[in-house]
Amino acid sequence: MKKVGFVGLGIMGTGMAGQLLQKGFEVTVWNRDKTKAGPLVEQGARLAASPAELAAEVEVVLSMLRDDAVVREVLLGAEGLIAAARPGTYFVDMSTVTPAMARELAAAAKAKGCPFLDAPVLGSKGAAASGGLSILVGGEATDLEAVREVLAAMGQTITHVGPNGTSAVLKLANNQVGAVVLAALGESLALCETSELTMSREAVLDILVGTAGRVSSMKKPKIAERNWETEFALELMHKDLTQTLQAANELNVPMPVLASAREVFQRARHDGKGQLDFSAIADLSEA
Ligand code: NAP
Repeated sequence: MKKVGFVGLGIMGTGMAGQLLQKGFEVTVWNRDKTKAGPLVEQGARLAASPAELAAEVEVVLSMLRDDAVVREVLLGAEGLIAAARPGTYFVDMSTVTPAMARELAAAAKAKGCPFLDAPVLGSKGAAASGGLSILVGGEATDLEAVREVLAAMGQTITHVGPNGTSAVLKLANNQVGAVVLAALGESLALCETSELTMSREAVLDILVGTAGRVSSMKKPKIAERNWETEFALELMHKDLTQTLQAANELNVPMPVLASAREVFQRARHDGKGQLDFSAIADLSEA
């Protein structure tokens, strides 16, 4: 498969389309703001006048757009990509969208006779520009094999995670961990900087980031095996979270992420888990 269409030349899409060009694919691009296509056109990409024109002339259409609403407009609209595609054209939407959107896209593409994969990515601007993304793929494994070479131009790892929509679940689940960790880190940094600590911001961050980064990998084996043999009791972590709130109160520092996390620990204590290892806090599913 050599003729690739790429729609959505934002921070991520520009790097990804650039990688496809570097690796010898014939790339046709489209973006709402046409000026962003300039550097790619200089590297050999063709600029399509519309999504429909692009879809009609390539073997696989990749999209990297902002959100559900944009994906709906550009892929599902009457003048959109799917309506204009020939049956047999592969679609790979790499935007971060909801699982429901991914399933809706898959159904629309398949109704047109077009295989569809949802394939959001892990990694940011640097990884996109260097072909180092991790690509999570939902859909038929055989469809992934058909486009694997194209995805390999952009991704260092390609993981088939399940049927259409499941990659979105994993991608969103992954992002929320990163988002909540950073929000919690910000609260702790504010607490330290409001106190009379004399360390530099960088030195405080070294300690906080070291812990934030280590705790999940340290506790991962216990969580995977549901082994709650106590190394640090949940009860004691609850005590520390409560004490942190007291310190925050003294220093007049708002810590809403901490406050809600403490309630999660309170719930676990209420459910009789106080003497278990605190990693048991990560055991919420029924599975
Ligand atoms: P971005 O730079 O804001 O690019 C968004 C893209 O969507 C642009 O091509 C933009 O076109 C297009 N778009 C927005 N509104 C549109 C509309 N109404 N009609 C047509 N096109 C429209 O975002 P990004 O960082 O590249 O992210 C793209 C996707 O990847 C998002 O779903 C994001 O969550 C996900 N993601 C981002 C990162 C990251 O680190 N940045 C990492 C992993 C995943 P214009 O250029 O015309 O505005």
